[in-house]
Amino acid sequence: MEIIILANSSSRDEPYTVAISFTETGLSIFCNCPAGEWGKYCKHKMAVLLGDEKILYDDKQIENFNKASKWISESSYPLLVAKLRESEKELEAVKKTIKNMKEEIAYSMKEGLKS
Ligand SMILES: [Zn+2]
Repeated sequence: MEIIILANSSSRDEPYTVAISFTETGLSIFCNCPAGEWGKYCKHKMAVLLGDEKILYDDKQIENFNKASKWISESSYPLLVAKLRESEKELEAVKKTIKNMKEEIAYSMKEGLKS
């Protein structure tokens, strides 16, 4: 089974084609944009995965988009996305720690640091 969704491109007028395939190997998502052609992460596949309707080329895509969203919600993709979000939060926390440490070092350099 395969669902085709036309997705907006930010770099050209023609839409890209996102194909969601449900086979014995599982749920696959392909896109024919330059990154997608290589099987890499692309914003078109990610938008479909996250249920972001803004990526849809026109109103005709909504039925297939909803069908794909149902397949996705019944798969393990939402779990992977949750893990991604968790890692992004951890990264933000580390960035904040680094910023604070740099400020502390700068303060020490200005005011002096005892031994
Ligand atoms: Zn793409």
